[in-house]
Amino acid sequence: MKETGGTIMDYRVLLYYNYTTIADPETFAKEHLAFCQELGIKGRILVAPEGINGTLSGTKAATDQYMAMMLADQRFKDTYFKIDESEGHAFKKLFVRPRSELVALNLDEDVDPRQLTGNYLEPQAFKQALLDEETVVIDARNDYEYDLGHFRGAIRPEIHNFRELPAWIRENKEQLMDKKIVTYCTGGIRCEKFSGWLLREGYEDVAQLHGGIAAYGKNAETKGELWDGKMYVFDERISVEINQVDKTIVGKEWFDGTPCERYINCSNPECNRQMLVSEENEAKYLGACSLACAKHVKNRYVKKHSLTEGERLERLAIIEKQ
Ligand SMILES: [Zn+2]
Repeated sequence: MKETGGTIMDYRVLLYYNYTTIADPETFAKEHLAFCQELGIKGRILVAPEGINGTLSGTKAATDQYMAMMLADQRFKDTYFKIDESEGHAFKKLFVRPRSELVALNLDEDVDPRQLTGNYLEPQAFKQALLDEETVVIDARNDYEYDLGHFRGAIRPEIHNFRELPAWIRENKEQLMDKKIVTYCTGGIRCEKFSGWLLREGYEDVAQLHGGIAAYGKNAETKGELWDGKMYVFDERISVEINQVDKTIVGKEWFDGTPCERYINCSNPECNRQMLVSEENEAKYLGACSLACAKHVKNRYVKKHSLTEGERLERLAIIEKQ
């Protein structure tokens, strides 16, 4: 048991994937769910014919047992687990779901990373690539993930969702085709497929950060250097630190552009936009990204804070004046 700043870190958060053949994802998911329930594990695990992808939390004992079980299975014996210590669960629930694929890239013809994928760069080699002016480093995540934190100098494709990345690459083919290309994502799973797709598209020099940003942040040599901001994660922590050397804030507040690392979802449940918003502006703008969302009949902020109709209209009037 390790103590950090007086808190007891006796839980863990695991992040992993493995491209491997799972013959019957439905049955596997049912059995895996029962196993996780027995261990008291929470999180989200996706199972597909092409493999497994999980992010989960549990006690140290439970996660030890989970990893031991996985590594004892022929199909998952080479799984690379990224491990964070935690004060408690990082998830409220447990989902183990069968899917047709692990990563959706909207491709007519899917890529099997076991057949075709970019070269793996370990953190130290990736750091060298970041410093190399001849190399183009592409962030293979969603835009809101980039906006909270990213590698210094990395390209932010003009897309909202990872799925749109192939189309963006094709649009920018002229600038990219002759370059060395390196990609990265949170844990590595998206780049496995994306870098394979780049090779199939005719790009010759393609590499990916092995283990993703998560592994880079834990690496003893790089210590997360050249990462700016925080890393977005898909659990209740929302974000984690990566750079242990010279931390900076790159997130910008939605309304006033000041440095901000506080994520909220737009309070209009039909919008749900992810945005960085200060506590002060959340109250001022009724937790909404726009006037239309602030006015929306289902606005969650109004409900959560039990605002009276008078209070609601008063705040809308202030927003409208701006
Ligand atoms: Zn909105």
